Amino acid sequence: MSTLCIQGLQASVGGKQILHGIDLTVSSGEVHVVMGPNGAGKTTLSSVVMGKPGYKVLAGSVTLDDIDVLALPAWQRAQAGLHLVMQYPSEVGGVSLDHVMQEALIARGRSIDGLDQLLGDEAVRIGLSPELLHRSLNVDFSGGEKKRNETLQLAVLEPRIAILDELDSGLDIDALRDCARRVEDLTNERGMGALVITHYNRLLEELHPDAIHILVKGRIVASGGPELADQLERDGYAAFSPS
Ligand code: ADP
Ligand code: MG
Repeated sequence: MSTLCIQGLQASVGGKQILHGIDLTVSSGEVHVVMGPNGAGKTTLSSVVMGKPGYKVLAGSVTLDDIDVLALPAWQRAQAGLHLVMQYPSEVGGVSLDHVMQEALIARGRSIDGLDQLLGDEAVRIGLSPELLHRSLNVDFSGGEKKRNETLQLAVLEPRIAILDELDSGLDIDALRDCARRVEDLTNERGMGALVITHYNRLLEELHPDAIHILVKGRIVASGGPELADQLERDGYAAFSPS
């Protein structure tokens, strides 16, 4: 059982404060959804928690169990069990997914026995053409192939807590369903905790959230159950303004 605990997190980028005190707790097997309009700070939140350079933490803490996440470089955060699926996955010429997975498992001190079989099985399960396992990572992949590939990485690396920044961006409806279902299965079968960031509730048809949090202008302005997404669909973000 693991818990990612974000407390009072304030952060700036480019000299501008974007996050104004975020409190969120995600434990193994849970799905927490953060919804917010464009520019609310969703990507900033995911970048700060994962340790992307260029962001400044002004206050607050992020812990994964007893680990002080903010004290670690990004690669050690990954080693500790955090994983970020980026909104726009990076293209990495000359490096294939199978090599990335091999190196990532070795860096975690895990065995690579049976990796080829696992990658093949997971590619079939997520609907990714197996030949893409050996091509340059994300180079010339379609939007759907990129996110299927990123979702496959979750299944292979088995992070304790995954942060998914707009898994739905650039996805057609079939790819969205496949990726969302796989994430949901990982939370149920392997106890992965998920912090799912989105601005559409269509993702929630496959992913069943334990809690929904509405982020507006760098603040969580409401938290609740799935009914919050229905309210949002009805009333829009305008009904949720920071107090
Ligand atoms: P969201 O993902 O919710 O759409 P972001 O976290 O990407 O929002 O952005 C929040 C705000 O931070 C926006 O106003 C954006 O312009 C600003 N921002 C993001 N990155 C930078 C940067 N590198 N320099 C300056 N401002 C930035
Ligand atoms: Mg974003």
